[in-house]
Amino acid sequence: MADSFDVIVIGGGPAGYPAAIRAGQNKLSVACIDEWRNHDGSYAFGGTCLNAGCIPSKALLESSELYHRAREEFAVHGIKVGDVGFDVAQMQKRKAGIVKASTQGITALFKASGVTALQGHGKLLPGRRVQFTAADGSKRELTAKHVILASGSVPVELKVAPFKAPHVIDSWGALELEAVPKRLGVIGAGVIGLELGSVWRRLGSEVTVLEALPDFLAMADQQLAKEAARHFKKQGLDIRLGAKVSAAKVSGDAVEVTYEDGKGTHKLTVDRLVVAAGRRPFTGDLLADGTGVALDERGFIKVDEHCRTGAEGVWAVGDCVRGPMLAHKGKEEGVMVADLIAGRYGEVNYRTIPAVIYTTPEIAWVGLTEEQVKASGRTYKVGVFPFLASGRARAMEQAQGFAKVIAAQDDDEILGVHIIGPMAGELIAEAVLAMEYSASSEDLQRTIHAHPTLSEAVHEAALAADKRAIDSINR
Ligand code: FAD
Ligand code: AMP
Repeated sequence: MADSFDVIVIGGGPAGYPAAIRAGQNKLSVACIDEWRNHDGSYAFGGTCLNAGCIPSKALLESSELYHRAREEFAVHGIKVGDVGFDVAQMQKRKAGIVKASTQGITALFKASGVTALQGHGKLLPGRRVQFTAADGSKRELTAKHVILASGSVPVELKVAPFKAPHVIDSWGALELEAVPKRLGVIGAGVIGLELGSVWRRLGSEVTVLEALPDFLAMADQQLAKEAARHFKKQGLDIRLGAKVSAAKVSGDAVEVTYEDGKGTHKLTVDRLVVAAGRRPFTGDLLADGTGVALDERGFIKVDEHCRTGAEGVWAVGDCVRGPMLAHKGKEEGVMVADLIAGRYGEVNYRTIPAVIYTTPEIAWVGLTEEQVKASGRTYKVGVFPFLASGRARAMEQAQGFAKVIAAQDDDEILGVHIIGPMAGELIAEAVLAMEYSASSEDLQRTIHAHPTLSEAVHEAALAADKRAIDSINR
């Protein structure tokens, strides 16, 4: 193996591995170093996303949702299935198979694009040298013209509720449960807390979510957040807002949780407690002294808008740098950097990064919330279309939620699109593309949408912004 490369990527998650593949496509010599290990000690590329995040969570969300629908919805369709049951072991086996196929896929992609895959630890030394430590502890020094840091993030551990498996667990632990806990506590009503809470609630857990902030989904459009809260309540997710956890103690086979809210101190006993209180950038043993790479006060690697660190030829992408901690944000940054290194054009449009929450109903948005547009002082118009008025959504027995388009009053530019409803995460792609092209709401209005499709809701919401919706009453 060569000791010198055009590019060395440290971290093989959804930010690092696309950077390596694009560098390979750009005919650069490239190595990707990754140290992710699964519980059985095996190495696997793909980082948090493929091994312990996006993919396993979506696998379990799908299985639990199918079970829930078979139980609650099939009869409405006239389908008789008798007693519906489930097998957690089989769900976990299916999930593990999906994860394995995905991570092995990366190894195959690396081969196809000429990426040297190195499994072990990478550490940046001054002068774009990288120390690689293999599984057997042997060390080699590599050099590169460019180094891309993509070391990702790890779950935040709370002093008041330290991890203590199997009782107090992080999101990965919550994805690996072998049985349905009777009572499940979740700290944090963020995206991860809601998705994991939904999985186990659908399978029968009594789920209590404790959230320190007074507002639900504070980062989302509040009309959307209110609609979401209503559905989650109906599903039996007990979400307590303004509830700050101050202690968690394992006692026998249960966890005694203490939390404070406006009314005083409360106790809650659960069988398992998931701490989903956010994630922090991970840079453990990544940077030797004198590399010139700086961290900010929250531990993120400091970069400019093109992901350049303060050190010549050293870049950083993904969860270890500022911006939303999302796989697709990291991927675009990785690809941008690999293209910039090759002298090509590269840019990430940080204004059009979609966010998706894979609950039922699904929640997705892009651009500004109504609250943000209002605060900016810009005059605007809003169009809302309920899925209740969508023939396709009704036919699917999924007529919940709405699509909302916010456009500028003056030049009609779309400023934000917010969707809660069936397949919202898929529908938002049209809005992202529209905003990428600085489309107006009229552009969406004049775009033909097939009938009957869920996407008509986006079309109609754009029409509603000018009070020209056809399939719902304009207000
Ligand atoms: P990571 O995926 O964390 O990968 C970093 C990799 O670098 C790891 O393999 C790590 O072991 C390795 N590494 C670190 N330091 C070194 C070193 N010194 N040497 C060698 N290797 C090193 N995002 C979405 O967009 N959609 C979702 O649906 C979604 N669902 C999620 C669900 C859960 C439960 C969780 C926890 C996260 C979810 N996320 C989701 C977030 C997403 O997983 C992250 O944003 C994404 O993984 C970040 O990618 P990354 O490449 O920056 O970091
Ligand atoms: P996110 O960062 O979106 O994953 O969400 C994590 C959530 O956990 C945030 O909304 C935090 O307010 C919440 N959180 C963090 N610490 C606590 C705590 N001690 N008690 C309750 N909620 C918390």
